[in-house]
Amino acid sequence: SNGIKAMTVEPVKVKSKNLDVLAEYKKSKQKKAANFVVIGHVDAGKSTLMGRLLADLNAIDQRTMDKYRREAEKVGKGSFAFAWVLDQGSEERARGVTIDIATNKFETDKTRFTIVDAPGHRDFIPNMIAGASQADFAVLVIDAGTGNFESGLKGQTKEHALLVRSMGVQKVVVAVNKMDMVSWSKDRFDEIEQQISSFLTTAGFQSKNLSFVPCSGYHGDNITTRSKDKNATWYTGPLLIETLETSEPFLHALNKPLRLTIGDVFRGGVQNPLSISGRIDSGSLQVGDSILIMPSGESALIKSLETDGEPSDWAVAGQNAVLHLANIDPAHLRSGDIVCNPQSPIQNIQSFTTKVLAFDHLMPMQVDVHRGRLHISGRISRLVGTLDKSTGAIAKKRPKIVPPGTVARVVVEMDHPVPLEAPARIVLRAAGSTVAAGLLE
Ligand code: GDP
Repeated sequence: SNGIKAMTVEPVKVKSKNLDVLAEYKKSKQKKAANFVVIGHVDAGKSTLMGRLLADLNAIDQRTMDKYRREAEKVGKGSFAFAWVLDQGSEERARGVTIDIATNKFETDKTRFTIVDAPGHRDFIPNMIAGASQADFAVLVIDAGTGNFESGLKGQTKEHALLVRSMGVQKVVVAVNKMDMVSWSKDRFDEIEQQISSFLTTAGFQSKNLSFVPCSGYHGDNITTRSKDKNATWYTGPLLIETLETSEPFLHALNKPLRLTIGDVFRGGVQNPLSISGRIDSGSLQVGDSILIMPSGESALIKSLETDGEPSDWAVAGQNAVLHLANIDPAHLRSGDIVCNPQSPIQNIQSFTTKVLAFDHLMPMQVDVHRGRLHISGRISRLVGTLDKSTGAIAKKRPKIVPPGTVARVVVEMDHPVPLEAPARIVLRAAGSTVAAGLLE
């Protein structure tokens, strides 16, 4: 021998602990994670209510709160001590509001909540679409004030409810707000509950997925503590926060096959030369697992992982995870790719049929298909029919054009195959604006 050995790269081996991850998860004190989107008419009290949740659950410290209160008093709008804005929109500026509470997260003993949009903007439909595409449920804020509820129902409430429904959001927590303005009238609450129920079921929601809580965001009544108003004693149901805690459909996703959408790919770490991060959409994984990356179809080994910045042996749906990988060429990993289990992989598809809510006129046309971070160019190739909003039955077959505000079934073809499966929330865009949003079925 000349003493020179052929260099072969030995595959990394990691022994799996073969954990029952679901059992580990139940044993652990892991908090559940839930994302929600806030909808409702302008001035219904969405900002005030969310600010109240953030303040009551200590997402905002007292000093910051006091600062906001002082600033709000200066501009003469007291309740804005509780109003929050993720980014200051023109509406807030017009009102002279200068506060900026840069958080959208709060937590209880059981659950970590993320509010996935910024309410309060007059033009927040684009934000809401992005928000709704990640939402586990929606919070609909209704103004119980006399006359206001009726006018709100005609306006944005309707539009928003339809939008979140068309994106596949199934649960709605209805905060019947400003109950202080109607002296906590039970009759008023019952009337609103009845009308909103029938409106939402017509929009396609199932009544078992709706809950109603009478509250006052301004006074903090029935949000995280029970109202002390003597007229409010008739309500003995759950507080708003308790309803939020039971509204996330999170456990269902645990038993489904593994799906993780890659957010970022990190290279060059000393200990971990190749890592990916992302939220686990469904299923679970553990150290030692072999995973499949789509669309490339390449496999990789999970060497180690982290959840919430801490090393862990496993991770489950709803958690954000960082996976340190081995035995794969980084060229096969891109943001937007899907990590799955080799036994139940996601398929690459090139065309799909979907039910969408049209925001613009739809016809056979070029569109960009967006699903989370994945986007790909394609076209609407066929208009199958317009649909009845409540029953989903075909209202008109093969229309030439679908007008805005209509729900329709369309066939979309993409320029090349991508990993996509039902149920996926998708957004269709053309010339820089959203033309439709819906659920791949
Ligand atoms: P948004 O447009 O839905 O975000 O509504 P805001 O949170 O900005 O509230 C609109 C107005 O309603 C503000 O003047 C608030 O002070 C007021 N408001 C909000 N919640 C309540 C409430 O529970 N009771 C009363 N009386 N007023 C409220």
